Amino acid sequence: MTICKQSHRYNTLFISLPHDQGGEGRHKCCGCAYDQGYRAGLARTGQVWVDLAALPDSQAGTVRHKSPQAAFADGYRDGVRESYRHAG
Ligand SMILES: [Zn+2]
Repeated sequence: MTICKQSHRYNTLFISLPHDQGGEGRHKCCGCAYDQGYRAGLARTGQVWVDLAALPDSQAGTVRHKSPQAAFADGYRDGVRESYRHAG
């Protein structure tokens, strides 16, 4: 099992995410879920669900036991907004 070692585990952006204690994704890294959503949003793929299988686990930081679905949705929204900024 892959464990996320990236510094986004401690990003305070993720503190406000809802807790996910019992869900399938509760051990997944929400920082990586956000990045995955952001990339999808930037490309406006229309794929608005998180690919849990592609995410590494996280065992520390602010992303622990947070909802990766919510993190992905936040990332997707930010990515879509950023894509329009580039389009000018
Ligand atoms: Zn991560």
